[in-house]
Amino acid sequence: MAKPVTPEGAGVAGGVEAIYAEVRRLAGGGVVVAPPELTEVAPGIVSVAVRTPTLPPAAHTACYVVGSGQVLAIDPGSPYPDQQGALAAAVGARGQLVAVVLTHHHGDHIGGAVALAAAHDAPIWAHAATAAALPQVAVARNLDDGEVVEVGGRALRAVFTPGHAEGHLCFRDEASAAVIAGDMVAGLGTILIDPSGGHMATYLASLEKLLAAGTSALLPAHGPAIVDGPAKLREYLAHRRMREARVAAALSDAPQSAAALCAVAYADTPAFLWPLAERSLLAHLVKLVEDGAAVAEGRAWRKVS
Ligand SMILES: [Zn+2]
Repeated sequence: MAKPVTPEGAGVAGGVEAIYAEVRRLAGGGVVVAPPELTEVAPGIVSVAVRTPTLPPAAHTACYVVGSGQVLAIDPGSPYPDQQGALAAAVGARGQLVAVVLTHHHGDHIGGAVALAAAHDAPIWAHAATAAALPQVAVARNLDDGEVVEVGGRALRAVFTPGHAEGHLCFRDEASAAVIAGDMVAGLGTILIDPSGGHMATYLASLEKLLAAGTSALLPAHGPAIVDGPAKLREYLAHRRMREARVAAALSDAPQSAAALCAVAYADTPAFLWPLAERSLLAHLVKLVEDGAAVAEGRAWRKVS
């Protein structure tokens, strides 16, 4: 079984998985155990939502099964044997599994990859940076930006979209322009840009790239399909820019801690999400420093005067 990975230089031990676990603990609430839900989300693309240890309010990761007769399975994320068994059966019912494909290396996307690949004797494909972050997973083929994979009557084009994670790929169905979006956007909850492996400016550039690629629906890893993809991408871009402006406005001539800045810039955010908000704040501060709008002094930040 694949273990969560700590990226090099992670600010928090355990990377995003540790943060997700902390937010789950703070959010409380029981886990609803249900069989995987299977939905046809686009022509020839089926979503199988399996239970995963992900970021609340989401509790599932959608595994997208693409094609018929011969299929790809993208992001089988569940570490739970009951969910893995049901997913393996659902995939088998659609056709012969050609490969397990990963959008990125986070635990809630790869937790069932080795099990599904083994159940169907299929290889695992991912971007080289994802493979590098997963030394315990044998990645047989590296997928690059622009590469087109044809399987079961569908053609999927890999779109390199780093920022949430270094090796993040989206997959655009060339016939429908629907985009399997991984963790670029969420149909439920939010996307964490954590400075341990994420980079805000790169993430914003990847949102712009998806917008420019010509996108119809967005098929996220968490939550339902987003019918108007371009509107959602513009909404995400506007939201992150609004937040960056609030972080910039919270800076003063005197250096302030992340906690102090968070209280001002995220005053509108529920308190149980503050551990998450503080990580996101740090990602915004990194960008403001890169842009020459902020200065870091140890673990405190001030504006450029
Ligand atoms: Zn992720």
